Amino acid sequence: MYLVFLSFFAFILGIVIGSFLNVCIYRLPDDLSIIKPGSFCPSCKKSIRWFDNIPLLSYLVLGGKCRHCRSAISFQYPAVELLSGLLTALFFYKWHGTPLWLSVSLLAAYLLIIVSAIDFRTMMISDLFSYSLAFLGLASSFVNPSFTGDWQQRIMSSVYGVMAGAGFVYGLSYLGKIIYKKEAVGEGDIFLLGAIGSLAGFYGVLTIIVTASFLGSVYGVSLILLKRADRLSYMPFGPFLAAGCVINMYYPFDLFSFIFS
Ligand SMILES: [Zn+2]
Repeated sequence: MYLVFLSFFAFILGIVIGSFLNVCIYRLPDDLSIIKPGSFCPSCKKSIRWFDNIPLLSYLVLGGKCRHCRSAISFQYPAVELLSGLLTALFFYKWHGTPLWLSVSLLAAYLLIIVSAIDFRTMMISDLFSYSLAFLGLASSFVNPSFTGDWQQRIMSSVYGVMAGAGFVYGLSYLGKIIYKKEAVGEGDIFLLGAIGSLAGFYGVLTIIVTASFLGSVYGVSLILLKRADRLSYMPFGPFLAAGCVINMYYPFDLFSFIFS
């Protein structure tokens, strides 16, 4: 009961962090400062008062519209806040006994939320995020529940994950260039999956590729069925890799050992 209560606090903290993630998602691709100025409406440029800037609640109270010009507020804002809140609560509930891994996995999840939302909006993945994530993965290998052995074995597990992830997407993009004679996989995906490999290890990252392909296919087919896209539409793959990584950090799972054992 006590744990459920604390997880609720983690949820509140998570939506507040989500509100900051939104600022990063909105401003970082345009090289704008994430500190100044305060929040403003992208449509009428009027600054948003604190009571209209309460995560999740203000969106509901205002009915998703700016108080001044009534133009629609992007659904990205409440979606990111809610996702950040839910992940913070779930990870806290699961990993509160290992505070170091809790911090690492949540930090990675926040980075992945930013990367995914920017990929959805701009179809770009900044390599800076992937480098930060890879650094986090390598540096935290000694608390990573996916790895075993002494610290050297753990670092090597992380390095093998980077090589497997980056190598796989590199091979895929090489094949794509031969078959389709054009860029089939974004270069940003190579660095992103390498970084994810540092957190998941060799078999973990292969499992994530399977998970991401499944999630991506479900999403793609739904869009086609809803006539929101056709077979040739560009679809970002980064968010699905990110989702696979978050699932793997929450529940470390190695599909291949599972099948072959
Ligand atoms: Zn406005």
